[in-house]
Amino acid sequence: MFRRVYLDNSATTPVDKEVFEAMLPFLTEKFGNASSIHFFGQEARAAIDKARHQVAELINARPNEIVFTSGGTEANNLAIRGLIEANEKYGKHIITSEIEHSAVREVCLDLEKRGWEVTFLPVYDDGIVKIEDVKNAVREDTILISIMTANNEIGTIQPVEEIGRFVRELKENGKKIWFHTDAVQAVGKIPVDAEEIGCDLLSISAHKIYAPKGVGALYVRRGVRLHKQNIGGHQERERRGGTENVPYIAAFGKACELAKENLAGDAARLAELRNKFENEVGEKISDLVFNGKRERRLPNISNISFRFIEGEGLLINLDMQGIAVSTGSACSSGSLEPSPVIRSLGRDDELARGAIRFSLGKENTAEDVEYLLEILPKAIENLRKLSPTYSKQATK
Ligand SMILES: *Cc1c(COP(=O)(O)O)cnc(C)c1O
Repeated sequence: MFRRVYLDNSATTPVDKEVFEAMLPFLTEKFGNASSIHFFGQEARAAIDKARHQVAELINARPNEIVFTSGGTEANNLAIRGLIEANEKYGKHIITSEIEHSAVREVCLDLEKRGWEVTFLPVYDDGIVKIEDVKNAVREDTILISIMTANNEIGTIQPVEEIGRFVRELKENGKKIWFHTDAVQAVGKIPVDAEEIGCDLLSISAHKIYAPKGVGALYVRRGVRLHKQNIGGHQERERRGGTENVPYIAAFGKACELAKENLAGDAARLAELRNKFENEVGEKISDLVFNGKRERRLPNISNISFRFIEGEGLLINLDMQGIAVSTGSACSSGSLEPSPVIRSLGRDDELARGAIRFSLGKENTAEDVEYLLEILPKAIENLRKLSPTYSKQATK
């Protein structure tokens, strides 16, 4: 039988069976609009309240600090646009990094065109923002720092707690400044504690943690003012208009509860699988570079650049053998531009184009990794034989 191995869990994950079960009643018999006064409405309202507690619990927030959105992209838009529009009078400078997800990067690029100034901090060859750079970038007119908790392509964990501490100190000295972190990849993989990070805003997406696509949340610390982006309804305490997606919100809540329960066990198991994979790949395949500081990554991501290889070619070759991986982020694949994240590491063109992300999920097994270890070296050898640069260096 043809084997399929899904190693693209950072792009999306399957819906967990328990999550699916938790969602079903709200599609059929419990279908009310949560804004309605009657029984049906109250039933839907109760489901949203429950989910709000479950989401809050996972990130150590209060339920009334959770705003449900249509996903991570909307959470990032609401965080950044909402914050700067509400606080324009304090300044028009934003600090972010060169390796943010497009849902932060492109919002910042758009704001640059509309009169805001943005500093994109480098990450050097280890893929990590340096706290000193953050400190040096702050100006009189800086109102927002947006740095992700962990990167979606290489998995590097950013110094968000240090940034949070620094921002708090600035606030204590009377500065008007806020801190947003895109925690979409980190949540459910490593402990994410909004209080410990000390951020004002934090984005989450449901479909990266075994719930459906199209739902997510923004954590908004109590007292932080946002300018509403979705106007036309009074839902989410005036912060996000639109009838709530009750079934998906209920599913998201359940997924957060499961993530909290299983986090430590899943993380340890996936790290072990990932490390076994990396150790053996390093032995079996020559001319490769691991991307992102290996000791400071999410447990489930491995990003490797293979010399003399086009990442896209390898992806297609692996797909023909049932293995699903990605080059760069899903959002930039389809174009042959090398990933901006890998470029930010200072990799040459060849290495940037030869990068592949393997991202494990809770359904992956040791057999999956063994299959990958059997297929990958052969696939690379075959592709390298076709590469003019490879044969040239081999005959040297
Ligand atoms: C997937 C992802 C997003 C976008 O979330 P959606 O729910 O797909 O809109 C944002 N940031 C990061 C880091 C992501 O991995």
